Amino acid sequence: MGIHHVTGIAGDAQQNVDFYAGVLGLRLVKKTINYDDPRTYHLYYGDTEGTPGSLLTFFPWPGARRGRAGVGQIAVTSLAIAPESIGYWLHRFVTNGVNHDALTRPFGNATIAFRDRDGLMLELVATEDATVRGAWADGPVPSEHAIHGVHAVTLWEESLERTEQALVEGLGFRRADSEDQTTRFSVGDGGSGAFVDVRVVGGFLSPLGGAGTIHHVAFRARDTAEQLQLREKVTSLGLHPTPVIDRTYFQSVYVREPGNVLFEVATDGPGFTVDEPLKSLGESLTLPSRLAADRASIEMVLPALHRPQATPLHETPDAPKANV
Ligand code: ZN
Repeated sequence: MGIHHVTGIAGDAQQNVDFYAGVLGLRLVKKTINYDDPRTYHLYYGDTEGTPGSLLTFFPWPGARRGRAGVGQIAVTSLAIAPESIGYWLHRFVTNGVNHDALTRPFGNATIAFRDRDGLMLELVATEDATVRGAWADGPVPSEHAIHGVHAVTLWEESLERTEQALVEGLGFRRADSEDQTTRFSVGDGGSGAFVDVRVVGGFLSPLGGAGTIHHVAFRARDTAEQLQLREKVTSLGLHPTPVIDRTYFQSVYVREPGNVLFEVATDGPGFTVDEPLKSLGESLTLPSRLAADRASIEMVLPALHRPQATPLHETPDAPKANV
């Protein structure tokens, strides 16, 4: 168990590639279309194989209005790095013009809050167990400083109780920690990648969908049997999950929790090598078989994407020492 992927909404697709692959150094592991809107991309970023838990995915809608985080939404997505990488990332954010904050220490971990080019709220969290999980070693970020998957998501909620019930009784989470208005839940073996933080922000603004917001978080199910068990559990709590939906790379069930955040339960398999080889993941446009015959017309309306480019403001040969 743990987080499988986090899916957000972006504006320009190339800008999204340049930021997540070019600046953050994640591997673009799949370039496909939004199955519910085939005229737009669905881009997946992750580690070498696109392992569940390493994945950030985006629906880029060119010209989309900018959204706003609010109550009943996943506001912040946290990514794991090794503790010795903090200085490297502060330097990289400065040289690449990334909007970021000074270092803080929520839950005892050195953390840099930052925003992507659409204003999406993200964090890099330094954690000793980051390197237990894989990374993309052949990207623009040196492998010792690479991002090791999603660390946590932070939900902004009106109140805790009903969301807690969905997490604990529906999905098998437990209370792990708390700090200020935030209650941390973990699942399975716990640790980086298994955290959901619920921050009670009652009375705050309602969200505005659009670029720079998170659409949903997906949690891992080992296989379809476990997925169906979880589906039954959330149904017994009075929630209304979808049927199992084939997403080619995994099977999905979606359910809106009582606080209005969209959850997904996604199977670990079959994974991203199901329709292209590991060495060339993400290089060509892949389509679900039902749309294979429409390739020419789909390719015509999608904007061309080229290889990621970080956009350094200026080059400096040495990263400064970590200021921690
Ligand atoms: Zn999803």
